[in-house]
Amino acid sequence: MTFKTLGVIDPILKAIEAEGYSHPTPIQEKSIPILLKGKDLLGCAQTGTGKTAAFAIPILQNIYNNPVKSKGRRKIRALVVTPTRELAIQIAESFTTYGKYTGIRNTVIFGGVKQLAQTQSLKQGVEVLIATPGRLLDLIDQGFISLKDVEYSVLDEADRMLDMGFIHDIRKIIAKLPVVRQSLFFSATMPPDIVKLSRKILGNPEKVTVKPEQTTAEKVEQFLYYVSKKDKPKLLLHILKTDEVGSVLIFTRTKHGANKIVKILGKASIVSEAIHSNKSQGARQRALGNFKSGKTKVLIATDIAARGIDIDELSHVINFDLPNIPETYVHRIGRTGRAGASGIALSFCDGEERAYLKDIQKLIDLTITVIEDQPFEDDGTVIETKKPANQNKSKKSFVGRRNSNRRNSSPSENKQKVKKSFSRRPR
Ligand code: AMP
Repeated sequence: MTFKTLGVIDPILKAIEAEGYSHPTPIQEKSIPILLKGKDLLGCAQTGTGKTAAFAIPILQNIYNNPVKSKGRRKIRALVVTPTRELAIQIAESFTTYGKYTGIRNTVIFGGVKQLAQTQSLKQGVEVLIATPGRLLDLIDQGFISLKDVEYSVLDEADRMLDMGFIHDIRKIIAKLPVVRQSLFFSATMPPDIVKLSRKILGNPEKVTVKPEQTTAEKVEQFLYYVSKKDKPKLLLHILKTDEVGSVLIFTRTKHGANKIVKILGKASIVSEAIHSNKSQGARQRALGNFKSGKTKVLIATDIAARGIDIDELSHVINFDLPNIPETYVHRIGRTGRAGASGIALSFCDGEERAYLKDIQKLIDLTITVIEDQPFEDDGTVIETKKPANQNKSKKSFVGRRNSNRRNSSPSENKQKVKKSFSRRPR
């Protein structure tokens, strides 16, 4: 299968060839013909599958093949809504790349920066607008954007949008779109609330599912530490100070958690930087630049901020918190071990995260090796919060440590646990 046989037109083929794409990826092979026919699409796929080209190419082609006759400023004919600035920028770059011989213009808008450059670009007129939800609504309210001419709408990373609390913004945006349009909806996971949202947005969509890349995950050496929530910072320091760690990307579930780690590491004279959505665009780009150039060895990120960011030559990924979406784990650890390099992924699991661990191991079809030779090993008992604190304490101190009844471990799994420590080389 080639892009030509999928029906992609010459001006776009030329641009794709210049990018070195010889064959369409599975999501592109499935989605492009559906979208060229003008049908709605529900795509279950994540970043890294070639999803952006899967929607950008047919949108560009449909706009190119159906030019608007009216004179005057270009009208926004396609709207892509995506949760983070980084993704928005990357999507805009893709539209520019694939559309460079079509004459179709795009622009990108996102919060955290002054709006002037964005409104000036909008005033010049674009056919494709890529936006994060908050800034989009803001500029609509100020009269800089009208969605009344939108023929193609894309909701990208819908599960992230909901995780980030964008549901109300999304509803408001949808309400402003023309009823007759082609709608595309992408999400890495399809929990019930996402399915419900997709039904509100899509007519009678074609469904396309692409499994996350597991091959990358298989190349990565994965280890697990059972540790209590309170001991996680100590364990992190222990690893960073004693193990042979080159550049490490640490994932936390919250922005607050990411900031806290920077402070803790700073006190121990380990320089690190955090990237998350509360940081300005400039601060994020700087932190990323420092990390890529090797100036900082430790970068702490939330999933949302780290999505779509390409960082190669990463020796370690540390999951300070386990993600509640198992695909996110695959996505996180896929950031190490690239281009044939051997990567190491270390995950911290406290008592409350056992359920997440179970889902992750089910998805990757692997029992992650447990490191027992570590000073903060925890039995994973979740202490019932209703009991008085002193009672909890005594109960916990009497629970056996080693082969205790780990809720997530079968006897055969226990056999796989190894005593392992990394080479103890002071940094
Ligand atoms: P995405 O999932 O859209 O973030 O794309 C992931 C990466 O795959 C991007 O760096 C794209 O440039 C690249 N890519 C997309 N489609 C193809 C293709 N057909 N062949 C090779 N690389 C591709």
